Amino acid sequence: GAAIELENLSKRYPGNPAPAVDNVTMHINAGETVILVGPSGCGKSTTLKMINRLIEPSSGRIRINEEDVTRMDPVKLRRHVGYAIQASGLFPHMTVAQNIALVPKMIGWSKTRIRERVEEMLDLVGLDPREFHGRYPRQLSGGQQQRVGVARALAADPPVLLMDEPFGAVDPITRDHLQDELIRLQRELHKTIVFVTHDFDEAIKLGDRIAVLRERSHIAQFDTPEAILTN
Ligand code: ADP
Ligand code: ADP
Repeated sequence: GAAIELENLSKRYPGNPAPAVDNVTMHINAGETVILVGPSGCGKSTTLKMINRLIEPSSGRIRINEEDVTRMDPVKLRRHVGYAIQASGLFPHMTVAQNIALVPKMIGWSKTRIRERVEEMLDLVGLDPREFHGRYPRQLSGGQQQRVGVARALAADPPVLLMDEPFGAVDPITRDHLQDELIRLQRELHKTIVFVTHDFDEAIKLGDRIAVLRERSHIAQFDTPEAILTN
């Protein structure tokens, strides 16, 4: 895993006077799963996108294992951070296998290793590789697309996983299985996971700590599920 530090982090979008994220400081330990919960529009997605450098902070700093993400080589950042979102974000003109292979390819894995890994990842998310490998995203249900999105996020075995409601459209049985897989990845491989959800049961099940956010990502509470439940 890798520790993640957010220090006085703010984001203002152009044309929007109110900051989406305002002066947030948060320390996430290596190997920890932190759940972000809070009302729609409070800046959860914005925060994940800044950690992943999909958008630039207006001010403040983000460090992954002491290294400032703005100074990190982009390929290194892709190798270190896996990202899965509700909308799956799959490239429509690429097959399932090509989507999953994106980061492994970018970081120079061999064709054989990539082929094996794509199969392994499809198995992990419960999709038969023979059936799904060559399909395009439009040929999948919403839940299947999300599962491929999760497979892609995990493919290069990154120490950090950022997940923005990744199981929202997944059927309950598969969701339960994927939640168990995440717990295993965290326990056995010490992944650091930042996970956004609206599902309180999911937050309690997965979180080592839960950050309850208010508007502009102000942290109202940041504590263990047990402590959150008793407050
Ligand atoms: P959450 O993930 O908690 O629902 P977001 O991070 O998506 O919240 O959004 C936080 C705030 O920033 C909201 O007020 C939203 O409308 C605004 N916002 C998000 N993306 C953009 C954008 N690209 N341009 C302008 N405002 C945005
Ligand atoms: P194959 O030859 O096995 O079909 P390719 O070598 O063509 O596989 O790679 C898969 C495709 O993914 C390529 O066309 C490559 O250009 C494309 N690709 C890689 N990264 C991106 C990206 N970020 N956006 C769009 N397409 C991409």
